[in-house]
This record gives sequence, C-alpha cells and structure tokens, in this order.
Amino acid sequence: MSRLCELTMHEARARIEQGGCDPRELLRDVLDQIERLNPLLHAYIAVDRRRLEAALDARLRQGPRGRLFGIPVTVKDNLCVQDEETACGSRILAGFRPPYHATAIDRLLQEGAVIIPRANMDEFAFGSSTETSYFGPTKNPWDPARVPGGSSGGSATAVAADLALGALGTDTGGSIRQPASFCGVVGLKPTYGRVSRYGLIAFASSLDQIGPITKDVTDCALLLSVIAGHDPKDSTSAPVDVPDYVGRLSAPIRGFRIGVPNLPKEGLDEQVGRAIEEATQVFQRLGCSTVPVDLPHIGSSIATYYVVAVAEASSNLARYDGVQYGYRATEPGYPRGFVWRSQTCGGGRRECREPGGERPPTHTLSLLDMYERTRDEGFGAEAKRRIILGTYVLSRGYYDAYYLQGMKVRTLIKRDFDEAFQRCDAVVLPTSPTPAFRLGEKLDDPLQMYLSDIYTISANLAGVPAISIPCGSSREGLPIGMQLVAAPFGEEALLRAAFAYEQATEWHHQTPAIKGSDPVGQSHGS
Ligand code: GLN
Repeated sequence: MSRLCELTMHEARARIEQGGCDPRELLRDVLDQIERLNPLLHAYIAVDRRRLEAALDARLRQGPRGRLFGIPVTVKDNLCVQDEETACGSRILAGFRPPYHATAIDRLLQEGAVIIPRANMDEFAFGSSTETSYFGPTKNPWDPARVPGGSSGGSATAVAADLALGALGTDTGGSIRQPASFCGVVGLKPTYGRVSRYGLIAFASSLDQIGPITKDVTDCALLLSVIAGHDPKDSTSAPVDVPDYVGRLSAPIRGFRIGVPNLPKEGLDEQVGRAIEEATQVFQRLGCSTVPVDLPHIGSSIATYYVVAVAEASSNLARYDGVQYGYRATEPGYPRGFVWRSQTCGGGRRECREPGGERPPTHTLSLLDMYERTRDEGFGAEAKRRIILGTYVLSRGYYDAYYLQGMKVRTLIKRDFDEAFQRCDAVVLPTSPTPAFRLGEKLDDPLQMYLSDIYTISANLAGVPAISIPCGSSREGLPIGMQLVAAPFGEEALLRAAFAYEQATEWHHQTPAIKGSDPVGQSHGS
C-alpha cells in the first residue's frame, strides 16, 4: 500500500484510531489524487481544495470523533449540503445553495466524516451513463473512452480511482448498482424507507433511495449503518431498528438459499452470463444451496418503470420555475424569435414584437413566458423528454390506461419477489446486461439506454434491497458486477452473502491501472 488514498474506509479508520494516520495527510493525499485525475475523469463537478482543508481543520478541532472521523466521503450532487452549491447535475439548479443538510449528510457529519461535495451525475438522475449532466460527462477509470454508468457515475468513479474513500449515491432504477458494476466497486440500494430521503432532490419519490458506493463490502456495511434509520423529517422512512451490519458481516452463510431466476436473456452479454454462473458456483462451494425461482413479470419492469418514474418526475420537476430556485432566464418572458420593444413594463406584463419591429405587438408577455423560457433553457433534452412523457401519462383520459395500469403491474412485480423470498434468502442476477459501454454509444437512442437497466429496475419497483459487487472481468479488462436482491429490510443477509463471496474471491482487489499512472499518457493510450 503506497498511498493513503488507496485505503478502504475501515482501514483508514483503524489507522486513524491507532494514531498511525493523520486525517490531514489523508485528505491531502485524496486532494492530490483529485488534482491529478479529475481533469481527465471529471468525477467531481467542482472541488474547492482550500475550503475542504479549512473545513477539516475545523472538524479536527471540535468535530465528533465518530465512526467516520477524518474520512473523506463524497456525495452525489443531488444531496443537499448546507451552503454548498448543489445542482443535481442541472443548469436549472446552477448556483443553488441549500439552507440545510440532507439527513444522510447530517449523519455522516455526526460521525466525523469529511464531506467532499459535488460528485457528478446525470441531470436529475435521469440516465445510465452520466452523459446527461449539464456539467459534462464523467469517464470510466478503467477506460476513459467508456461511460462510468449512471446516474451516480461521479460517485462510482471517485471511489474506483481513489478520489474519495467512499461515496453516497442514489438509486431510483439502478443508479447506484449499475455504476458500481461498471467501475468495479460495491454499491447498495437499501429497502425503500431504510434511509431518509430528507434533503434528497426528488426524482421519483416512491422509488428513490440513498445508498453507499464503496471499495469493499465492509465499507458498504459501515456507511449503511451510519445513514440508515428512521427520520421524523421523512414520513416514508421506516421505524425499523438498524442491525449491527458490520458486526454481523462474518456470520456464516452456510445453508443460505440462493434463488436463480430464469431471466430474459435478450441483450445479455455472454461474458456477463458466464460470470454470474461462476459466482453462483462460488456460493455452492460456500455451502449455500441454489433454488430456481420465477420472476415472470420482470420483463415488464422497464415499461412499468418508464410510466411510474416519469409521472413522478414530471410532478417533482414542476417546482423549477425560475422563481424559487437556481436558474432564471436572463430575458424573462422573451419568447423565441421576438425582440424587446420596450424595457419598461406596466402591471408585470411586457410587450415585444417580431424581429424588424414592423408589425404591431403580437404577444403580450407574462409570468408564464418567464417560466417557459426558464424551463426551456434550464432543462436538458432528457429532462424535457421525461417531463413530457410524465405529463402525458398523468393527463386526464390517459391516467387509467397508463399510470394506474403501471401501478397494477408494479404490484405483480412485488408479488413475484414476495413469492421468490418464500423459497430463498437472496436472488442472484447480473447487475447490468453488459460491461461499460462507450461514451456516446447510446446517447442518441434513449430506448437502448433504458434497456441497460433491465435487471436493476424491478428491485426499485418492489421496494426491496439489492447490492452489486464485482464478480468478473471482460475480455477488454472491464469489471462485471453481480447483483443480489433480498426481502424488505434484508440488507444484513445481502451484506453477509456479499462479504462471504468477497472473502472467497479476488475480484475486489482488481483496480484500474489509471490510479497509479500518468493520466495524460492513459488518455492517449485508450
Ligand atoms: N437509468 C435509470 C433512469 O434513467 C435509473 C436512474 C436512477 O436510478 N436514478 O431512470
């Protein structure tokens, strides 16, 4: 181990506790790594080195010496960090500084973590590649010509390339697990209600969850135990006790039943399929049994998700109007193709006329024009696509045909899982049908992009927890992720199974070559 930034969170914690590592040096090493690699990888939208060092000094002086004392953790740009710009990867929130912390952030701080804000993400978490960020794409540390996955691509890249020791991401349809699998790290989507969503900028409120992205399963358990638990500020957070996830990690899994579903194979890369089969055999060697399970409605999960999620997104995004938050069009109420006739206005309404100014005023400007212009300029193409789709599925006359129907299929998907968990302790699946794809490859084809979430989305629709851990490597040397899904509040079972697998294999020791090399040379070489 040559660098402090390469440590896992639990290793750093042990060293700090024993006095073998100064948190200032640890942060300095992480910031050096950020300076070296972020210009190429763009895991962070922005990093303010001086501000972070000053914040650490203040924390070392009076901060709590909790379970994450002095450990640098990054957070996705959709988690409110008080007084720090938090823009959800969007122009429409550019410049927004929340007046409060998200509960998950508060809990990290209470345990003494050093927060590095602004991990890059797809705009409003809409995407699977981090390419829809208003601030530009993040690159995959294993091959910068490829995407890191999304929408928590900045968080996963930061952890994989040692630009943070751990991270928080959010997952509405796979956005923690898929980037974790593309970047060769661990990512866990908790049960809906396990972690408070207070201060998470909402995408689809019935699906969103905050969760850890880490270098190994122990760190995942540690970070989850910090952020999990009931929060009076989020009425959907569950009043369910938080087990000692770290302490229970090494409890034996002999006798566990691993459910193996018969999945739609369409689009499944054979290397990924083989890696999952081999991983299943590892579980058998560890004393687990495998049982076939049926998830007959999983094939409908993408269609269901793209009704339910876009409906909720269109409602959640209605609040961005240029009045209360972030961006406002600089020429408010100035419709395209028109020019100002006069800067003076009466009664809040302005007049303009067509270019050339020949014809009399044809349009009287109103507050609505300001909203329209702000939203037109503030949202990117994918956000607009989802607002339009969501407004359509919720519209009168179509609500029953789409939204209500979607909710019924969602119930069927949930029942599939309920039945499967009568027969097994965890279901094994690929996380993504392919390893990381190339930048730009799916950007113009939204359907192809949506299909990459086929194996992750159903866990969100059913509200159940799921983890992705490294389980293989493709011919091109790209990581492959395995997903384990458990019954509601079965995070402990997931973590134990994942930990046993990790102990029995070497995949989590693989790291991208870029971490230790000259980034300029790498970018030319790929
Ligand atoms: N890729 C999915 C989408 O585009 C999931 C995103 C997410 O989990 N935030 O909606």
